[in-house]
Amino acid sequence: MPELPEVETVRRGLAPVMEGQVMERVEVNRPDLRWPFPDRMAARLTGRRVLQLRRRSKYLLADLDSGETLLVHLGMSGRMTVSGDPLGRFVHDHPAREKHDHVVFHMDSGARVTFNDPRRFGAMDLMETAAADRHRLLAVLGPEPLGNDFNEAYLIAALAGKNTPVKSALLDQGIVAGLGNIYVCEALFRSGISPLRKAGQIAAPRIAALVPAIRDVLQRAIAAGGSSLRDFRQADGELGYFQHSFDVYGREGEPCRTPGCTRSIQRKVQSGRSTFYCPACQR
Ligand SMILES: [Zn+2]
Repeated sequence: MPELPEVETVRRGLAPVMEGQVMERVEVNRPDLRWPFPDRMAARLTGRRVLQLRRRSKYLLADLDSGETLLVHLGMSGRMTVSGDPLGRFVHDHPAREKHDHVVFHMDSGARVTFNDPRRFGAMDLMETAAADRHRLLAVLGPEPLGNDFNEAYLIAALAGKNTPVKSALLDQGIVAGLGNIYVCEALFRSGISPLRKAGQIAAPRIAALVPAIRDVLQRAIAAGGSSLRDFRQADGELGYFQHSFDVYGREGEPCRTPGCTRSIQRKVQSGRSTFYCPACQR
């Protein structure tokens, strides 16, 4: 499932192909993904220029010259593929249409952006740009973890008095937007905090240390995604999936990487999801 760094990588890959370009034709090959597509979606997108491609949490937001914004969510298995870029940034030709190519954006440059999603947990919607923050999917989101509103004082206040494990609190999208299982595990390891500890029982300086840890794990992953952009241009044009190594995530039973620590990484299930941590380094 794509997390924030993957979505940001998709955004960075799509921006040069879409920003400033007109969507000459938009193919919508089915009535819905997770939810029905908005009314007359193809007609509302056709002929519109993309002014800017933004990201909010794990949502891509394309602001159009019609005053509307297209929201795209990749869901569990959504993929964006770019083909036929005339500037040669993407070397492969337009592929034959595949079974799960649900929406295809034909840009006036000749580039084609395809949204493919076998499981259809993805979503698209259209809203007025001026009202985008009030969209039902966006209005509930807390601050962006890489933005200025997410800071030490904010996080200390947000976790104060919380009886839930800190891991669950950090996965709460209303506290901080876009953090998923992988990067929460990594950030907690980096800041030496046990994922099992109740959020309200962690001393303020330790919570403060989580802020740079969260930013750092995300920024490293985004940097790894950035290097992957160089490779996909030579490959199949699919954006956003890249190899990245983790300190704890997926490493159950393997040795802890903290110098001098002799323990191995443990896995526990919390709220139905795997938590990876070192019981010696994380308190
Ligand atoms: Zn350790």
